[in-house]
Amino acid sequence: AKQRGKERYVFFDDVMNYRIIEKTKIEHNLQFALDNKEFMLYFQPQYKTSNDKISGFEALIRWKSRELGMVPPNDFIKIAEESQKIVAIGKWVFVNSCDFASKLIKRGYKDIKVSVNISIVQLIQDDFTDFILATIESKNLDFKLIELEITETVLIRSVQEAYTKLETLRSKGVSISLDDFGTGYSSLSYLQNLPITTLKMDRAFVEDITKNTITENLASFIISMAHKLNLEVIAEGVETKLQLDTLKKYNCDKVQGYYYSKPVPEEQAFLLLESKGVD
Ligand code: C2E
Ligand code: CA
Ligand code: CA
Ligand code: CA
Repeated sequence: AKQRGKERYVFFDDVMNYRIIEKTKIEHNLQFALDNKEFMLYFQPQYKTSNDKISGFEALIRWKSRELGMVPPNDFIKIAEESQKIVAIGKWVFVNSCDFASKLIKRGYKDIKVSVNISIVQLIQDDFTDFILATIESKNLDFKLIELEITETVLIRSVQEAYTKLETLRSKGVSISLDDFGTGYSSLSYLQNLPITTLKMDRAFVEDITKNTITENLASFIISMAHKLNLEVIAEGVETKLQLDTLKKYNCDKVQGYYYSKPVPEEQAFLLLESKGVD
């Protein structure tokens, strides 16, 4: 597959033709999807390594298209960004993530965070900060229960304006996580200037930890450095006990991955909380 940067697919492999047709189809279907409630959110639990309990969930969008079947986010987010549809989709995602956070509270889980992926295209909208704050407030949620996941490339490319927005949100108590950390341009020196609270170690990096001593050393170094900068570290894509144990050894704060659970629908997320307990 044609790759742009890390594991980010531009689109279907193989035949150019197929790609163009599909891209047009997807573009065309995105508005229909919004209007006809074809999107859903799944939630993947995040666990504290200190007690193996759930501390939060990442919201991940799912699209069951009447015309195209299940379309994975990696196949439509980029297209949604190019066509600006991500702005409306992102609002839908955020409102519904806050609804999920409210439901958690109604069920007695007062301290579970909900992390939401935010695209750069959303971030650069003039009303971004207001929308985020107003939505959280309209659900009577504590700001600290919401975390925004922003990718590293976003912050590198971003202008002062984006920084200022994130600073404002952070000052209200909203957490900001730097997603996919460790495979891109990661440079530790610039971290101290970013308006973030959390480092999210990329799956590719986690995978390498148990295979490559240099990566293992680097992980240990990154985690202790992050802690010195008062940043929390979460590892994503944890699939094995060995990966988990290695991350625990270096005091990684939280983990997320198939080892514990795949992203699941809301009702199953509640069941996970009932069975596994919370912090
Ligand atoms: P991401 O934010 O890096 O999300 C992590 C991806 O890894 C998710 O794929 C998740 O299902 C998958 N994953 C989690 N644990 C494991 C594991 O142990 N092993 C493996 N192999 N994979 C694991 P998903 O849900 O297909 O999402 C892909 C990407 O699409 C996300 O990457 C994110 O960049 C984007 N995305 C998903 N939902 C949204 C959304 O609501 N808004 C925006 N803007 N982007 C989204
Ligand atoms: Ca993410
Ligand atoms: Ca990620
Ligand atoms: Ca990723």
